[in-house]
Amino acid sequence: MSADTLPPLREVIAAHGLGADKRFGQHFLLDLNLTAKIARLCGDMSAATFVEIGPGPGGLTRALLSEGARRVIAIEKDARFLPALEEVSAAFGSRLKVIEADALTITATALGLEDGERAIIAANLPYNVGTALYTGWLEAEPVWWSRAVLMFQKEVAQRIVAPVGDDAYGRLAILTAARAQAKYAFTLPARAFTPPPKVDSAVVVVDPLPDGERFDDTQALSAVTASAFGQRRKTLRKSLAQAASQTRASAEELLAACDIDPGARAETIPPEGFMALARAWRAARS
Ligand code: SAM
Repeated sequence: MSADTLPPLREVIAAHGLGADKRFGQHFLLDLNLTAKIARLCGDMSAATFVEIGPGPGGLTRALLSEGARRVIAIEKDARFLPALEEVSAAFGSRLKVIEADALTITATALGLEDGERAIIAANLPYNVGTALYTGWLEAEPVWWSRAVLMFQKEVAQRIVAPVGDDAYGRLAILTAARAQAKYAFTLPARAFTPPPKVDSAVVVVDPLPDGERFDDTQALSAVTASAFGQRRKTLRKSLAQAASQTRASAEELLAACDIDPGARAETIPPEGFMALARAWRAARS
């Protein structure tokens, strides 16, 4: 079988009995124009190794390979898809390697990247683990990826790119800004998927900040943002009390160290303010 003669995805699903399993967040993209549109957001493909999470029946996988990806390492938890993916691998001259694993637990080493190599992550992410996977990749050091092109449910995509002051602004936008640059690429309506999920989806493109520019204490950042946004309608004087209780300083002292008004609310403080608070929180613990 060659790439041109691979059967349509609906036939692959029927032939292999691949009904969607809700436990694995399975909503398939069967329109190859849409998968090609996602693949083209990945930038220069021919020199790159791709890591795809959850290839399923292989729609996005085919698009990555057809658009010229040098090789694709695909991680799929549901073993039912492996025979169909083997056919894709055969059609593309073994540029596809499939690993049956849980993407939440697989290590960068297990991916088999060459020393210092940075992969491009591409995925139509399962909703139930999408945010956990994303924050894990953001926090990973050393960074093993050069770009991530990711489909999330639309609300999560909006939270990733939200500017300060926006209703969606919070922990996800701040962690993203501390470690990377993210752009909202486009929205996909629920009807684009088989079976359709309850909500729309959106693709974001995320590039890690250069070495030396990424905020390095994500644990402290997580502590202060969890506290501040845990009670987002309260003033920081009150909402930061929980994080401050883990230090020798009061919330007011932490805020004063960063020149932040204790009467302000979390959603009005830009990511740089939270990075300064994270440093003050860390210093007040030692
Ligand atoms: N890429 C396919 C597409 O676009 O049609 C399928 C996307 S579907 C939203 C999510 C895929 O992730 C499914 O194939 C599912 O089995 C897989 N998956 C779910 N949880 C996973 C996990 N923890 N690790 C790896 N794959 C997982």
